[in-house]
Amino acid sequence: MKSLAFVLPIYNEQDNIPVLYERLRGVADGLADRFTCEFVFVDDGSRDRSLALLRELRERDDRVSVYALARNKGHQIAVTAGIDVADADAVIVMDSDLQDPPEVAVDLVAAWEDGADVAYAKRRTREDGFFKRSSAGFFYWTLSKLARIEIPRDTGDFRLMDRRVVEELRRYPERNRFLRGMVAEIGFEQRAVEFDRSARHAGTTGYPLGKMLKLAADGILGFSSFPLRLISAIGMILAVGAGVWTVYLAISRLVNPESVVEGWTFLAAGMFLLGGIQMLMLGVLGQYIGRIYEEVQGRPLYAFKVADHGRRS
Ligand code: UDP
Ligand code: MG
Repeated sequence: MKSLAFVLPIYNEQDNIPVLYERLRGVADGLADRFTCEFVFVDDGSRDRSLALLRELRERDDRVSVYALARNKGHQIAVTAGIDVADADAVIVMDSDLQDPPEVAVDLVAAWEDGADVAYAKRRTREDGFFKRSSAGFFYWTLSKLARIEIPRDTGDFRLMDRRVVEELRRYPERNRFLRGMVAEIGFEQRAVEFDRSARHAGTTGYPLGKMLKLAADGILGFSSFPLRLISAIGMILAVGAGVWTVYLAISRLVNPESVVEGWTFLAAGMFLLGGIQMLMLGVLGQYIGRIYEEVQGRPLYAFKVADHGRRS
């Protein structure tokens, strides 16, 4: 028998927990002939009755594990904690508000059995409001243009990961976490499984605008150096433009001295030239900072897909 662990971050989900648990149980029962299941609930500092409800479930069902963070640390950290403690052949991460239908896990497991190391659930449709849909659309479009790796679009953190991917993920020590990017960066065989995303079952979103922007920044800054390169590019354009302009001004001063005000050429040209050079130098600093940033992220350099050595002397 192989083991599956469901990682479920919980932040003020008291009205979703009972339904979620029932539907998870249905899924687990359906898979029971081939898999043992564990439900790893990670309470992310909820202020409602969520933790109490989880402890009741824990009493009734020994497939349930309950972990509670000492305070609210945010979704990505809660999921990380769950992944760190889960001990299974495959880990399935999903939202706890039933936006990620537990039944889709069956399809994820099928993809895994078919050889995929990561099966990520891709939204065919979604029932979120206009703002959420358009901002998410814009974000994924930007990310796909900027990121140096391919991060699947219309995909949240709902995915199944084989144990070896989970072990790689645990080697990523960075603090500003954008898990879907990190999983994409790891590699192995990743496969999309399409599904229709529902609306939140009950309660309100734990992702207000501020948290959404933070996540978007983690995605773009963590996986792209475009903002840094932009500084150099603007500096370069400014400096070269100012250089050409200076030459033009100097020539027109010589050819037709009356055309310009005394002293103006020097001031105007100097200003643009200096501005451009400064920006160019900022870009140079940026390149170094970018490298420091990458070093500090401390990501693993590679992961082996095959590590099969012959006899060693
Ligand atoms: N969540 C969390 N900590 C937070 C915010 C959210 O653990 O600080 C959990 C939440 O309980 C849910 C998942 O993360 O299981 C996704 O959050 P939510 O549904 O509120 O986000 P949305 O779907 O609106 O983007
Ligand atoms: Mg949600």
